Parts: sequence; C-alpha cells; structure tokens
Amino acid sequence: MAGTAKILVFIDSPDGPLHKVQRELLTLAGTLGEPAAAVSSPPDEALLAELAGYGAATVYQPAAQLEDSLVAPNAAFLANVVREAAPAAVLLENSYEGKETAARLGIKLSSGVVTDAIAVAPDLSVTKSVLAGAYTVVAKVTTGTPLITVKANSIEAAAGTGTGMPVVVEVDPGEPGPAARVTERSAKPASGRPDLGEARVVVAGGRGVNGDFGPIEELADALGGAVGASRAATDAGWIDHSAQVGQTGKTVSPQLYISAGISGAIQQKAGMQTAQVIVAVNKDADSPVFEIADFGVVGDLFQVLPQAAGEIRKRKG
Ligand SMILES: Cc1cc2nc3c(=O)[nH]c(=O)nc-3n(C[C@H](O)[C@H](O)[C@H](O)COP(=O)(O)OP(=O)(O)OC[C@H]3O[C@@H](n4cnc5c(N)ncnc54)[C@H](O)[C@@H]3O)c2cc1C
Repeated sequence: MAGTAKILVFIDSPDGPLHKVQRELLTLAGTLGEPAAAVSSPPDEALLAELAGYGAATVYQPAAQLEDSLVAPNAAFLANVVREAAPAAVLLENSYEGKETAARLGIKLSSGVVTDAIAVAPDLSVTKSVLAGAYTVVAKVTTGTPLITVKANSIEAAAGTGTGMPVVVEVDPGEPGPAARVTERSAKPASGRPDLGEARVVVAGGRGVNGDFGPIEELADALGGAVGASRAATDAGWIDHSAQVGQTGKTVSPQLYISAGISGAIQQKAGMQTAQVIVAVNKDADSPVFEIADFGVVGDLFQVLPQAAGEIRKRKG
C-alpha cells in the first residue's frame, strides 16, 4: 500500500500558512502513501505551493463556501471528498473539532475512527497511549476508510520533495444537516506563546505555585514554550481553564514537559505522560510525580525556576 494509496489530510481553516500540526499530518501522510489535502475553504496560491511542498498532488476544496457552523459542514464536505477520492485513510487533527469531525464522518461513511494516535504504521495500524498512559495499544480499523486523529508532536514535520502545483478538485459541500450556527466570534487575546496543544515545550504549574504563575511564565518564555496547569491551579482561578492539562483538560505530547509544584495525580498524568522528556520540580521528594519524571529536582520552584530561566537566557546569549 505504501507509496501508492492516497492518504487524505483534512486542513481546517486554511488562514495563511499551514499550522505546525497540519504540516505534521502531511508529513505523516507522505510516509503512508501519496498525500492529498481536503481544505475547508479555497486555498490561495501560497498555500497551494506549501501543500505541493508536502507532496500533495491533489487538493479538494468545497465548490461553495461551507456554512459558518461548527464541525457539521466539515464532516458533510469531507464525506463527499472521501467518496470522490477513495483514500486509503483520512488523517485529522486530534483537537476537539478534529475528533468530532472524525466521529461524524465515521457515521456518514460507516467507517472506523481511531483518536489520540501517536503513530501510524504503513499498514495503517495505529499506536495510542490509553488509560492515563498506563498502556500502549495498537488498533486497526477494519470497517470502511480508516479515520485517524493524530496527536500534535507525534512526528517531526519535514517538507518533502514535492514540486509542481497540485490539481485542485471542487467537491460538492453536501448537506450538513442540523448544526449549531456560529453567531459571533471574538479573537483570543494573543499571549505571544505557542498553542498549548502544539507546543514543543510546556511548562506547567500546580497548587505549588500558590497563586503566582510568574516563574512558570518566565521559564516558558525563556524556552519559547506554552504554559500549562494542573486542575488545582485552574480551579483556584490562578490561570484560565484553557491551560488545564489532564484527563478533563488538554492532552499534550511535547518534546519537553516541565512540571512544577504538581503532585502528578493520575488525572494530570493522563494529559502529559506521552511527553518525550518530563522534568519535575517539587519540594517533596516523595511526590508521585517523580515516578514518571525523566529528570527530577527536589526543591522550591520559586528558587529553581528563575535560576533555570536565567541560565537558559545566558546561554542563548
Ligand atoms: C474526575 C477528575 C478529573 C480530573 N481531571 C484533572 C485534570 O484534567 N488535570 C489535573 O491536573 N487534575 C485533574 N484532577 C485533579 C487531580 O486528581 C488532582 O487533584 C490535581 O491534579 C492536583 O493538582 P496539583 O498537583 O497541582 O496539586 P497537589 O496535589 O496539591 O500538589 C501540589 C504539589 O506542589 C508541591 N509544592 C508545593 N509548594 C511547592 C513549591 N514551592 N515548590 C515546589 N513544589 C511545591 C507539593 O509538594 C505537591 O506535590 C481531576 C480529578 C478528578 C476526580
């Protein structure tokens, strides 16, 4: 199958250049077959060129603008693209929207869905980390077209050797059916930091920060990372709920996760255990967080973090 079958990547909201996670999906598609892209609105020349760079020979766009609803129009459009393109698999982002789109698409196409993928093999078997990271399982879709949502940072994005502009195919957007309509949008205040779900580095604080996220933010900025938090910290109102990492928060898979003042409860682990390197800073040497940490510092985060940030800034010159 590898090298010939079409692997369709869904590119939602192509506003400007491809997002990091979209580049990762296209790179992954290239390892599985011939990448193709389905974009939720017509791409401009720059985006087409970027898609070509990732080897997408065909780009499917809606023949008419998709309704400004939540995910339902995406799923209706994608179902028609899958019928037209007959891909071997569809790759989507592992965001809430991506997972819901995959679920709706699965119903429309009677196809199996696998979420939270951390790797996809050439035979389309999917590796995922489950039960709060306690088990790694391999799953394979046996019905219909495999619909796979892939966690950010699971693969290093690398542009391929693709040249030449892709062929653009217009596809009937289909009928979304009942859907929630967007009535108002307001931009999220820009923090200047990377998105938590996509960041290569996450510095997260817990109850141990005692209301002061300053040292967490300082270290995150020194490393160009995102700020995360335990539920204890978000529930206390010290930081927005969107920063929560864990079972009922975001699932992150960065290359480096620095946990500071967090005890490492199972619900927190569920959201960060697949990080490649975990560094824990905790003043209690018996804290369970040290059981999952690759490196641990027993100490007061208010002393350790500013020293680390200062040293990193010094080395960066
Ligand atoms: C259904 C359910 C869902 C949940 N979902 C989530 C979730 O998504 N995410 C999540 O995080 N939790 C979740 N929880 C809560 C979880 O069980 C824990 O209560 C929570 O993670 C604890 O947060 P914490 O580690 O910050 O606080 P604590 O457990 O109180 O730990 C604070 C740690 O900080 C250390 N510390 C204190 N001061 C300092 C200092 N100055 N320097 C260094 N270390 C210091 C302490 O030694 C301690 O280890 C959920 C719970 C339930 C029941």
